Amino acid sequence: MVAEAVLEKKANVVAVDIYDIDIDSGYELSLNSPANLFFDTVNVAGSLKAELSFTRNDEDIYVLGKASVRLKAECGRCLNQFELPVEVDIQTAFFPEEKVGEDEDSYTYKGDSIDVLPMLCEQLLLQMPLRTVCGEECKGLCPSCGKNLNKGGCGCSTDAVDGRFAVLKKLKEKQ
Ligand SMILES: [Zn+2]
Ligand SMILES: [Zn+2]
Repeated sequence: MVAEAVLEKKANVVAVDIYDIDIDSGYELSLNSPANLFFDTVNVAGSLKAELSFTRNDEDIYVLGKASVRLKAECGRCLNQFELPVEVDIQTAFFPEEKVGEDEDSYTYKGDSIDVLPMLCEQLLLQMPLRTVCGEECKGLCPSCGKNLNKGGCGCSTDAVDGRFAVLKKLKEKQ
């Protein structure tokens, strides 16, 4: 059974009824929704996409699949804004709340339905780098004049690789 996720926008919930997960054939869920609905703490662009396969063993739910989103990031070297694709392989489980503590990497649910959204957001957030760089080859900004060196040289002395040293050098020249 394949279902398009029905998104309850107001509640920001992507609910899966556990009894829709067939013991034999499982349940497939495909999600493609504007990502900015779901992430408060990070700036995202485009869609939150996920392809998930659910299997069920009594009340234990196992989830396999992939999720992706595009992070609106700022380069830590040149301060340019750019979009960074973030992808994660999902391999997790949901257990009824009574069974908490069996496995730290798993999630819990109450009642007959699970909300997969907090899990997806958490898994994606864990993949997001703390420091983003637009490219390994990024030259950054000139520490003296602040020009973006990816757009060409600035004519500052090449000695002034680090602005702090440039200041020191000037002080020494004065002495
Ligand atoms: Zn950069
Ligand atoms: Zn410069």
